[in-house]
Amino acid sequence: MFDNKESKTDLSELGEFGLIDHLTRYLTINQPSTKIGIGDDAAVLNFEGDQTVVTTDLLVEGVHFDLSFMPLKHLGYKAVMVNLSDVYAMNAEATQITVSIAASNRFPVEALEELYAGIQLAAEIYKVDVVGGDTTSSTSGLMISITALGKATPEKITTRSGAKPNDLLVVSGDLGAAYMGLQVLEREKQVFKANPNAQPDLDAYTYIVERQLKPEARKDIPELFNALEVQPTSMIDISDGLSSEVIHLCKNSKVGANIFEEKIPLDPTVISVCEEFNIDSTMVALSGGEDYELLFTIDQKDYDKIKGNPHLTVIGHMTEEKEGMHLITRANQKLPIQSRGWNSFDDAKDEE
Ligand code: ADP
Ligand code: MG
Repeated sequence: MFDNKESKTDLSELGEFGLIDHLTRYLTINQPSTKIGIGDDAAVLNFEGDQTVVTTDLLVEGVHFDLSFMPLKHLGYKAVMVNLSDVYAMNAEATQITVSIAASNRFPVEALEELYAGIQLAAEIYKVDVVGGDTTSSTSGLMISITALGKATPEKITTRSGAKPNDLLVVSGDLGAAYMGLQVLEREKQVFKANPNAQPDLDAYTYIVERQLKPEARKDIPELFNALEVQPTSMIDISDGLSSEVIHLCKNSKVGANIFEEKIPLDPTVISVCEEFNIDSTMVALSGGEDYELLFTIDQKDYDKIKGNPHLTVIGHMTEEKEGMHLITRANQKLPIQSRGWNSFDDAKDEE
């Protein structure tokens, strides 16, 4: 869990202010919209003519992450990604984050340093400024809450509610890998519990394990829309599985949808690991979650602009609301889409 096993400094040795200074000492400010960052009672931002988007996520140890296989640096990185993904899902540019941490005395300063190393790396790569936060103690475990801010012109902001019948339904990247990565990590954890000398061999699973431990938010997709001059009609990020996100778009936009099973983008590793675990790969894409890809709709007139783009796959189209939401299977069956897939996958998920 803690890479730095050499030294262990108790959190109380630094004190709250010392700890904040220590964790934030290498952060830099790069966004012109950041007028005042860390160090005052509040940050000051100026987005001039642009609109501001704000989103928050709270991650709780034992509920959202398991430190027995999640390195703290990855956790910090992922916590930022989860939030930036929501900003990009509004077709906005992410610009700032705040970071709030509650840690029990089980965590030495070095552990929080690692967490912060991941946060800082994400901030550097995604060009967002860390402009504030809060640091406090907890009686049990670690909690991390990140708030992300972003900006966009009013015309670009894309909500869940603008899809129209006949719009194309498009997804970025591929689906299901993060969920299968988690299955592999949990299996290895059980093996390790049974035999602590067992060395996990995860080489064959690199892609899916990385998708679970170190997801990347799709910063490139709003940039692509900008370059291609495409305005999506609705958009959402895929955090809970494709079916649940399609339902959100349909309900908010008052439309139906047809998704074609054969079009759902899957990495070859996902297909082979699903065979190994004897799970249906379509079900994993529909219900797995934590993909942090973007799901959006476009008007058919924009099809030529996105056609052939290796990052994007058209998986279906929207219909009239009364037609409902369906998956058209490879065998040409029409199955209703339900939240979290179409069978007892719900039970499997609850055991997580
Ligand atoms: P206050 O007492 O006003 O809440 P704090 O002492 O908690 O102020 O924080 C001092 C400064 O450090 C503030 O600018 C705050 O936003 C920032 N800060 C506190 N914790 C963190 C953190 N974990 N990451 C980044 N900035 C932080
Ligand atoms: Mg405070």
